Amino acid sequence: MPNLDINSIKIRREVSDIITYVSDLFLEAVESWSSDIHIEPNRDFILIRFRQDWDFTIFDKLDVKNTSTLLTRLKVLARVKIDENKKPQDWKIVYNYEPTNWDDREIIDVRFSTLPTAYWEKIVMRILRQDTSLIDITKLWLLPANLERVRKALKSKYWIILVAWPTGSWKSTTLFWVLKNYNPLEYNISTLEDPIEYDIDYVNQSQVRPDIWYWFADWLKSLMRQDPDIIMVWEIRDKETSNLAVEAALTGHLVVSTIHTNSAAATIQRLTNMWVETFLLVSALKMIISQRLAKRTCKFCKIEDKLSEAKMITVRKILDNILSKEDLSNIVFYKWAWCEKCNNSGYKWRIWIHEVLIMEDYLEKPILDDASSNHLKELAMENWMITIVQDALLKATLWDTTVEEALKLI
Ligand SMILES: [Zn+2]
Repeated sequence: MPNLDINSIKIRREVSDIITYVSDLFLEAVESWSSDIHIEPNRDFILIRFRQDWDFTIFDKLDVKNTSTLLTRLKVLARVKIDENKKPQDWKIVYNYEPTNWDDREIIDVRFSTLPTAYWEKIVMRILRQDTSLIDITKLWLLPANLERVRKALKSKYWIILVAWPTGSWKSTTLFWVLKNYNPLEYNISTLEDPIEYDIDYVNQSQVRPDIWYWFADWLKSLMRQDPDIIMVWEIRDKETSNLAVEAALTGHLVVSTIHTNSAAATIQRLTNMWVETFLLVSALKMIISQRLAKRTCKFCKIEDKLSEAKMITVRKILDNILSKEDLSNIVFYKWAWCEKCNNSGYKWRIWIHEVLIMEDYLEKPILDDASSNHLKELAMENWMITIVQDALLKATLWDTTVEEALKLI
C-alpha cells in the first residue's frame, strides 16, 4: 500500500523553479496513469496528491509559502483569471506529453477547476487521455454474448440508454465508443455534453449552458430542426428532456443518452416516474446498458484463489442460471500475490462491468402493466440477461477482477 501515514510526510520548504516543478508534476501524473491531480492548500502546507484507480498517492507536501506561486503558475496554464480567488473557475489545460520514446508523445486535455476553501483555493485537474485504444471495442470489456447484442441494437434507430452508476464510471468513454460505431460522413451526428470531454472529428459537439439558462430540453428542441440522424444527450434529468428523447426516437432518430439509476431494470421505472407514457416507452426504447467499474487485477502476480465453501455456494447460486452444472463445478478463481508491477496492491487499472437489457416482446406487457423493477429483472434473467454481479463473476473467472470485487456489486 502507498505510504499514507500523515506524520511521516515531510514538508518541503523550497521550490527553486516553479516552471520545472509543475512540468514534473504533470509528467509524473501522466506516467503513473493517474486520473486526477489534487492541489489542497491547508493552513501550513499544500498537499499535492494523485488519484489512481480509487486510491490516492502523495506527490508532495509543500510549505504554505509556495502556495501563491504554484496557484498562479497553474492558473496561467489554464488561462483563467489569476486574481479571482473568491469564485470557482474552470477551464482546460492542453498538456504536451513528450516522453523519451518520441513515438509515444501525446496531446492531453486536462480539465482544470478551482474552488475557494478556508485557505486559498483547492485545484483539481482531471487528466483526459485521448487514447483511442480506450474506445477500442475490446477495451470496453463487453462479454462476447453482450457485444453481439449491443452491436445488433446499434443497427436500429431507437433510444439507447446508458446507466452509469456511481458518478465517474467513465460513461463518456462508453458514449464515444457507441458513436464510433458510425461513420460520421454517412450521418449527421450531434451531441450535447456537460462538459465536452473529448474532441471528436466530424461530430457536432455542443455544451449545455446553464449560465445562460440554455438546458438540455431547449437545446434538443433546436437540434431537432437541424436534420440530425444520431443524437447524443449527455443526461436525461427531467420530464421534458425524457419526453423529447422519446419523440426523437419515435420519429426515426438514434438517441443515445445516460440516466442516473442503479440498474437496467430500475431505469424503466425511473422513466415512467418522469411521466414517460409506457406505451411510448415500449416503442421507443431499444436497449439499456448499465455500467459499473471494478478494480482490474494485476496479471503479473496471479495465483489460484481457493474460496471458502460458504463463498463458493454463494457464487454457484448467482451463476446457477447461466452456467451448466459441469462448468459450475470446474470454475476457478484467482487472486493476486503482490508484485512490483502493481505496486504491491494487486490491482492495476480497472474494468467495466455491464448489464445489457434489450427491449423485446416479452417485456412489453409487463411494462404496460407497471410491473416492478424486480419483476422486470427476473423476466430479463429468464431471457438470458447477464446481471451486473454475474458479469463481474464471469470476468473474475477470466482473471480480470476478483470474486471479492464482484460480490461488492450485489
Ligand atoms: Zn502484481
